[in-house]
Amino acid sequence: MGTKNTIKKAKDHFAQLIEEQLERIEMMKAQTEWIDYRSLKPILIGVCRGDGIGRIISKHAQRVLEHMLRKERADGLVEFRDIEGLTIENRARCGKAIPDEVLDEIKKCHVILKGPTTTPQEGDEWPNIESANVAMRRELDLFANVRPVKIPREGIDWIFFRENTEGAYVLGSRGLDVNEDLSIDFKVTTEQGAERIIRMAFEYAKQNGLGRVTAVTKANVVKTTDGRFSRLAKKIADEYKGCGIKQDEWYIDIMTAKLLDPARRKDFQVMVLPNLYGDILTDEAAQLQGGVGTAGSANIGKRWAMFEAVHGSAPRMVTEGRDIYADPSSMIRASAMLLGHIGFPERAKHLDMALEICGQFEKKIVTTGRDTGATGEEVTSYLLDWVDNPDLENKWQEYTEGQ
Ligand code: NAD
Repeated sequence: MGTKNTIKKAKDHFAQLIEEQLERIEMMKAQTEWIDYRSLKPILIGVCRGDGIGRIISKHAQRVLEHMLRKERADGLVEFRDIEGLTIENRARCGKAIPDEVLDEIKKCHVILKGPTTTPQEGDEWPNIESANVAMRRELDLFANVRPVKIPREGIDWIFFRENTEGAYVLGSRGLDVNEDLSIDFKVTTEQGAERIIRMAFEYAKQNGLGRVTAVTKANVVKTTDGRFSRLAKKIADEYKGCGIKQDEWYIDIMTAKLLDPARRKDFQVMVLPNLYGDILTDEAAQLQGGVGTAGSANIGKRWAMFEAVHGSAPRMVTEGRDIYADPSSMIRASAMLLGHIGFPERAKHLDMALEICGQFEKKIVTTGRDTGATGEEVTSYLLDWVDNPDLENKWQEYTEGQ
């Protein structure tokens, strides 16, 4: 193909992407109403098990959620639905990130508890289909990826608001091999997409009496997309000055270093970031908290929300027969976020306390990821004993006062 034709093909591809993004902007502009869970009877919780260790740890998380919501289940106010088919085998068979009938079932529910799913890459045994997560975030417009990280013994209480539907990921499977020498990917920031996540971070700070929101970008180098994100963070910060919230900005490279700096890190509170930086920084933060197996995340949109672990399907644990030793705390933390999101903040708080007491303080039963530690089932039973223990609040006080 001559240079002229090569450029024409690239231009057509780019034009198609721009058209789609402009359509997406119109959709965002049209969506103003948030779902009101109090008006739903029943609230439908869909459970997608996923792949690898997801098949096991999602069962433990469901057991905990069903226990916490036992009264509402009995009264018909909450219903659980098993959604089959979000497995790598089925996705590969259909050649789709989320098979159509699975997506239909997901959309019938209000919130989703999701086990980690395997995402193939070139050279794997599976066809190179798109990530189920990226597809679900896009299809359900789950624009906010909210990830709390707490290390009470160091006074660390962070919450990350990662933009979930734009940045380097939204067109991650739509890049272009222009010719045999040139590959180009695309990164997207829209006014509406950046504004809604930044506003959510500020609202969270306001509602929780926090005085600092930190935007993390690389706006000095990635001037257009990160530049817009940075500009909007400053603009929205002006609206919240009266609430005593300060805004600052850090570049992603130094921010990854600062999270390791004991002298500075506890001062960060709320962080808001474009997609890729959020993905990387939250894994680092989860590792500081005690490993990716301890961290949960919420993917929130105006109509649907999905709750999951921050880690993946850990296929090596399965092939080595260690899946029963996987730590379910990540998905149980996500379940606590789910409880808070659908209107049970007190129960979410209790579950979080029990997780901290079991995982960080008492530590009577712990997983090690292998047979030197407890199984996920044993850890779940230990946790449920603490959730129901009348001494929970006293133990919590003992833990936090000893910091
Ligand atoms: P991973 O997060 O699956 O696992 C990396 C390692 O972390 C594991 O080998 C294990 O040692 C440890 N680990 C993870 N979770 C654990 C737990 N609950 N308990 C104990 N140890 C745990 O990362 P990976 O190997 O890079 O990814 C595997 C697959 O998962 C890939 O296909 C990837 O695309 C996918 N993935 C899915 C999601 C998701 O569904 N949200 C997120 C990340 C990765």
